[in-house]
Amino acid sequence: LSQLFRPLDLLGMVYRTIRQGLIDMEAMYRLIDTQAEIADAPGAPMLHVEAGEVRFDQVRFGYDPEREILHGVSFTVPAGHTLAIVGPSGAGKSTIARLLFRFYDIQGGRISIDGQDIAGVTQQSLRAAIGIVPQDMVLFNDTVGYNIGYGREGATQEEIEAAARAASIHDFIMGLPQGYDTRVGERGLKLSGGEKQRVAIARTLLKDPPVLVLDEATSALDSRTETEIQEVLRSIARRRTTLIVAHRLSTVVDAEEIVVLDQGRIVERGRHADLVRADGLYAAMWARQAAEREDVATERTIEDAF
Ligand code: ATP
Repeated sequence: LSQLFRPLDLLGMVYRTIRQGLIDMEAMYRLIDTQAEIADAPGAPMLHVEAGEVRFDQVRFGYDPEREILHGVSFTVPAGHTLAIVGPSGAGKSTIARLLFRFYDIQGGRISIDGQDIAGVTQQSLRAAIGIVPQDMVLFNDTVGYNIGYGREGATQEEIEAAARAASIHDFIMGLPQGYDTRVGERGLKLSGGEKQRVAIARTLLKDPPVLVLDEATSALDSRTETEIQEVLRSIARRRTTLIVAHRLSTVVDAEEIVVLDQGRIVERGRHADLVRADGLYAAMWARQAAEREDVATERTIEDAF
C-alpha cells in the first residue's frame, strides 16, 4: 500500500513546493527523474568551480515566452561575496534564483559560474555546486536525521550531528522522543518554520557548496528566532558566493551590494546608505518598512503594558 501512497505523497509535495516562492528545487529534482524541457547538451562537461563567481549577463526570461518577466538583467557576484536582491512583490527575485539553478532555460543572455555557461554543463554538476536554503522547506516523511543527511550522500552520524550543531538545532533534536530517529514531515512531528529552516541550514552545511542561495522567509518568525537564524546564515555565507533573495530590507543593511529589481529590471544598485541617499525606490521601500517596524514596536509596547 505504501507503494501506492508514495507517488501521491510526491504529487502533494510538488504541488505545495510549486506554490512557494523559491521552492526546494533540489529535493524535487531528485524525486522526479523526468524532466520535460531542460536537458544536458550531448557530451556536456561538468561544471568546474574554482572561485565561484556568479554572473548574469543581459538575462531575458519569461515562464511563458509571450510574457517576458526579466528584461535583460545583469550583475556579478564576485567569488566569496554576497549580493542581495530586493524589490516589490512579483519583481522577479525568486525567478533569478530559480534560473541560477537552471530550473528553466533562459531566452536571452548568459548565466555563468566561473566563466562557464550553466546551460553548457551537466545539470548534476551545476546542482552539486549550489546550496539552497528555501523559505519554507518541505521535509520528507522520514527521520530528522535523514532530512539533514540528505545534504550529502554517505554522511556519517557524526557529520550530521556536527552540521546540526552548527545550525543550532542539535539540542532541540536531542530533546525529541527518539532524537535523530524521530520521524518528521506531514505524517510525523510537525516542525515550526524556524526549526525547518534550521534543518535546511544543517542540510546545506553538510553539502558544503561553493555557491549559496538564501531565500529569506516571508512569513515572520519571532524576532529572537529570526536573529538567531540570521546569525547562522551569516556564518554560512562567509567565504561562499551568496545570493540573498530578501523580502525585508532590515536584513540587507550590511550587504556588500544590493540590487533593486522592479518589474524585471534592475533599477538601482549599491550599498544601503547609498540607496537611501539616492531617494528612489529603495529609499521609499525602506521608509515604508521603517514605518511598519515602528507600528510593530508600538504594538509590542502596548502588549507589554498589559
Ligand atoms: P515575491 O517577493 O512576491 O516572492 P518575486 O520578486 O520573487 O516576488 P517572482 O516569484 O520571481 O517574484 O515572480 C515574478 C513574476 O513571474 C510574477 O509576475 C509571477 O506571477 C511570475 N511567475 C512566477 N512563477 C511563475 C511560474 N511558475 N509560472 C508562471 N509565472 C510565474
